[in-house]
Amino acid sequence: MSDQLNVVVVTGAGGFIGGNLVRDLRGRGYKRIRAVDVKPLDEWHRRFEDVENLWLDLNLKENCEKAAQGASDIYNLAANMGGMGFIEHNKALCMLSVLINTHMLQAAVKFGVKRFFYASSACVYNGDKQKTYEAPSLKEEDAYPALAEDGYGWEKLFSERMCRHFREDFGLYTRVARFHNVYGPWGTWYGGREKAPAAICRKVIEAKVSGKHEIDIWGPGNQTRSFMFIDDCLKGIDLIMNSEILGPINLGSSEAVTINQLVDMAEEIAGIKLKRNYDLSAPKGVNGRNSDNDLIRKYLNWEPSTSLRTGLEKTYRWIYDQYLARERGETGVVREAAAATG
Ligand code: NAD
Repeated sequence: MSDQLNVVVVTGAGGFIGGNLVRDLRGRGYKRIRAVDVKPLDEWHRRFEDVENLWLDLNLKENCEKAAQGASDIYNLAANMGGMGFIEHNKALCMLSVLINTHMLQAAVKFGVKRFFYASSACVYNGDKQKTYEAPSLKEEDAYPALAEDGYGWEKLFSERMCRHFREDFGLYTRVARFHNVYGPWGTWYGGREKAPAAICRKVIEAKVSGKHEIDIWGPGNQTRSFMFIDDCLKGIDLIMNSEILGPINLGSSEAVTINQLVDMAEEIAGIKLKRNYDLSAPKGVNGRNSDNDLIRKYLNWEPSTSLRTGLEKTYRWIYDQYLARERGETGVVREAAAATG
């Protein structure tokens, strides 16, 4: 266990999971948290005034050294990322996140950081194993032979291996979790980087507010996925960081649904029914994917368990409030930053 007086660094802290992680660490009693992101501070999803907030581009080695200096733990969540629409059209940008991970690992070794957590992704899995719509449960070994998601997934797979070799060759304590579709309040919900649950909630809200009862769905609607609520993700990060699990491990829900079922749930929460227009030319990702949780259950006697219905309702309500605030010309980020000292 880490001493709560040591400096704990969260990179990507201006983003969805990083912002929520900073809040979680504060809640767990950590007193010296350093939050780092390339986005200007007023664009962070969540920001806390009792935390050291740094605006740094972690592609640059010297900035990674500023971030890592004096730290005992690093949670490396910074990456260029988004939903399928973003990662399909920004492969080079996604691969450039390798600079962040390389420099953060080097800085961690240089400054004697005790523990390093890396956020990998289900996008590392071999595409050939995700061709069926029957939601194949992916076991950790299914990342090989390697045929990851082009761009984003290859970078994650490479950086996972770098964590392994830094552990084996330089003795750095590294832990790696493969997140499967994380969603929840304080996530990106508009602008092009949002993922399916937030995008579907927003579209349903738009339809409800505008009275135009139609929805555009990317792909045929029968693609399968599982979605992990943010609270489960945060608990999993903590358990994995404190575990003896050396290799990459799935951190995801095993409740697979089709995109149509996701829309059904959002409609039910909103209390409306929409005409569905399927855009078959839009990016849709692999046909089926689910998290196999045998390994995490074996090691931790735990797995993410918030039902999609429960998590989606919380997410829908949050996006609904953000949507109305935005219509009034406010932004949720600004309101949170102002209130986030408690
Ligand atoms: P996010 O986009 O909300 O957060 C990532 C943050 O990293 C952003 O705020 C961004 O500004 C920051 N960043 C990007 N480049 C940077 C740089 N050069 N220097 C400093 N900061 C930089 O994404 P998220 O959903 O919070 O994801 C966090 C991590 O989890 C990422 O590594 C992502 O790949 C991984 N992950 C997320 C999901 C998911 O469903 N959200 C799934 C799999 C893996």
